[in-house]
Amino acid sequence: MSNFKTVYIYAPHAKEREAVKPELETLFNRLNIEIVDDKRTADIVASIGGDGAFLKAVRDVNFRDDCVYLGIATANKTHFYADFHVNHLNELEDAFLKDNFDPRRYPIIEVRVNDNQPVYCLNEFTIRSSIIKTIRMDLYINNFLFEHFMGDGIVVSTPTGSTGYNKSLGGAVVDPLIHAIQVTELASVNSNTHRTLGTSFLLQKERPLTLLIDKSVDYYPILALDNEALGVTNTDKIEIKVSDKFIRTLRLENNTFWHKTKRNFLQE
Ligand code: NAP
Repeated sequence: MSNFKTVYIYAPHAKEREAVKPELETLFNRLNIEIVDDKRTADIVASIGGDGAFLKAVRDVNFRDDCVYLGIATANKTHFYADFHVNHLNELEDAFLKDNFDPRRYPIIEVRVNDNQPVYCLNEFTIRSSIIKTIRMDLYINNFLFEHFMGDGIVVSTPTGSTGYNKSLGGAVVDPLIHAIQVTELASVNSNTHRTLGTSFLLQKERPLTLLIDKSVDYYPILALDNEALGVTNTDKIEIKVSDKFIRTLRLENNTFWHKTKRNFLQE
């Protein structure tokens, strides 16, 4: 039997929460785990819904690294973070009873805009121009000027986020055991006068990425942390790196990142 005593349930849709509440209460009662409202101290943070709900739950508790996250899906489809399904709560109960918890650690991204307090992403950080005009910025790796970028923007993803927006842009799928960020371009201009690498690249933890935004045009860049916009005006400098923090989820048999990748993309 596991040592978890309390669970905080995050359900962005009240309807979903009401629909699954009775079953969850019964389950957690049986496991002697109390459902609590205090998201700062709960041992478990459980999201109800798909991966979008899971991303919001992690943000809701400010990327706490002293709890375990679990996602309980309700829709009839496969997900990446939502490992359990409300129709198969016996699998979750079994994991608790057998104390089958060898938590997986997922790397996250730390972003600092204009020397403000750091903010975090579980999937990706995105910057793009909000006007019908290309954005220009200089990309530094450590303090080394790597390239002058001109295009729609860039996406910087975590390994678990590599199967999201990054994959749609042709980026590589990255094993979460590799603690790196992946930089992927959004429609870069490549011509006789402008040149970017043109492919995604990975940066290891000791190599932070810094973006210096060209101020000669007001691009009003949109900054996004996973599925939420970051409200910052006058963005000059953005520092992005692999965080020292991780989030932890439950590790179940036959449910590695690669099992999930196959389940989501390769099975009919
Ligand atoms: P959404 O726009 O409503 O849905 C995006 C889809 O991406 C959903 O099907 C979602 O799964 C799935 N997803 C989320 N994280 C994923 C991951 N790590 N690997 C594979 N699929 C993933 O937005 P949302 O549900 O709030 O999710 C936000 C994420 O959407 C962003 O972080 C970004 O990765 C992704 N996104 C993708 C594109 C694109 O591919 N063109 C554009 C913008 C954003 P669920 O159905 O389980 O929620």
